[in-house]
Amino acid sequence: MPSKDIENAIRDIPDFPKKGIIFKDITPVLSDIHLLRKSIDLMVEPFMNQKIDVVVGIESRGFIFGTPIADKLNASFVPVRKPGKLPYKTEQISYELEYGTDSLEIHKDSIKEKQKILIVDDLLATGGTAEATCNLISKLKGNICGFVVLIELEFLEGRKKLNQYNVHSIVKY
Ligand code: AMP
Repeated sequence: MPSKDIENAIRDIPDFPKKGIIFKDITPVLSDIHLLRKSIDLMVEPFMNQKIDVVVGIESRGFIFGTPIADKLNASFVPVRKPGKLPYKTEQISYELEYGTDSLEIHKDSIKEKQKILIVDDLLATGGTAEATCNLISKLKGNICGFVVLIELEFLEGRKKLNQYNVHSIVKY
């Protein structure tokens, strides 16, 4: 299924949130139900017969795509969030950013050993967030079956950090 219509709707916002970053604004995709539905269908397609148990969505745009993908896979949905947002006991991971470090958290009881996991986010850039999420899920002994995003910034080579996983993206730059 061609995805040119989705690509055409994604809007470049220069120097947001900081100078030098071209932010990929997906809100025009979200506000067109045909494009939103098509995005979800294209993202979930390779995983339909993989018996995924849990879809993990990365804060915050990973929640938007992750929940309907979980519905289509008849799987549960689990959020990975920035520190201090989850109310119950958490497992945490820190990871390096260009300047400084950041952390992510998941509820300790959200994944059971060997459950089949699909991770969802809106965009893959350097792969730091994705790699940290994979390491977090590995701490809980989940079995990561794939990582899916709507947008991949191929020139940043984030995929290299995820070479042991099945990475699927719809619109590539
Ligand atoms: P990274 O860890 O570098 O792969 O960055 C991925 C995360 O940052 C995702 O959760 C994206 O939502 C966000 N992100 C990074 N770069 C961009 C960008 N150019 N436009 C929109 N979101 C971005």
